Amino acid sequence: MITGKTKVYGLIGHPVEHSFSPQLHYMLATSLAVDMVYTTFDVEKSALKASIEGIKALNISGVNVTVPHKVAVMKYLDAIDIAAMRIGAVNTIVREGNVLTGYNTDYLGLKMALDYEKIFLKDEDILIIGAGGAARAVAVMCGYANVRKITVVNRTIEKAEELVKTIKEYFDIETEVIIMEELVELENMGIVFQTTSLGMFPNIKNNPLKDNIDYSKMKVAVDLIFNPIETEFLAKARKAGVKTMNGLGMLYYQGVKAFELWQGIIPEKSVLDKNFQLFINDRQ
Ligand code: NAP
Repeated sequence: MITGKTKVYGLIGHPVEHSFSPQLHYMLATSLAVDMVYTTFDVEKSALKASIEGIKALNISGVNVTVPHKVAVMKYLDAIDIAAMRIGAVNTIVREGNVLTGYNTDYLGLKMALDYEKIFLKDEDILIIGAGGAARAVAVMCGYANVRKITVVNRTIEKAEELVKTIKEYFDIETEVIIMEELVELENMGIVFQTTSLGMFPNIKNNPLKDNIDYSKMKVAVDLIFNPIETEFLAKARKAGVKTMNGLGMLYYQGVKAFELWQGIIPEKSVLDKNFQLFINDRQ
């Protein structure tokens, strides 16, 4: 039941009407009996500053932030968590009194999703395809997980170099940069993270990898895309006998991590697993 004491949370982005986050937070709040509502706020770029000021003015307890505001929002916050600073993007804001703190739960959510699938990163060789915001979260997660080497392949070489510079600045990890058109084989690439938007609905036939690449050389293929649930990249990897993971787990667990930050509670694994299955089943 909604009362005058019900806490308000939401998602700031543009567009937001197709977001899965309201359903996700409704599921968690219901199963943990937390008195909250979660809705979407469609915010144009020109209204971002006013919307962040509105969090304080309206006593909103916290928000998630999505495309296109994850970077731009940082300048309007009072404090930023160190990992979010390293990634260079915020997707969760916590309000404590008059202080707004920005966090990045994308990288934490991805780590939880990998753990759930028993994909472990320590001492592994990693290939990150892409160098945008999602790739930065993957890279920082890999840094914290003490991987052996990170190779970044991207269409725009300068962005890959910038990402490798960030990795070098914070972590003692071997790195390499490859321009997309020169990626001709996956030998020794280990765990491959596909972080570009290529293959996302409606352009589901797109794939960053060349047709003649031998997918069986990968150890694990991870695609951050969750619509479709199996991209062309993942389908080819699966057919080559490679273990695969799509972006649904990351999406679910970044929401869980935001929920934990807001509520100060860590839900039991059994609750999380049950809701995760429901969340996945709804999208099959
Ligand atoms: P972004 O910052 O805009 O980066 C996009 C990346 O895709 C860049 O590396 C870009 O390369 C590359 N790219 C785009 N079009 C390309 C093309 N035609 N050819 C080659 N490369 C191309 O986007 P993002 O925020 O990182 O998001 C990327 C993907 O991750 C999206 O599909 C998003 O849905 C997904 N994602 C999933 C989750 C989750 O919870 N599962 C969370 C965050 C993001 P250039 O640098 O050369 O432009």
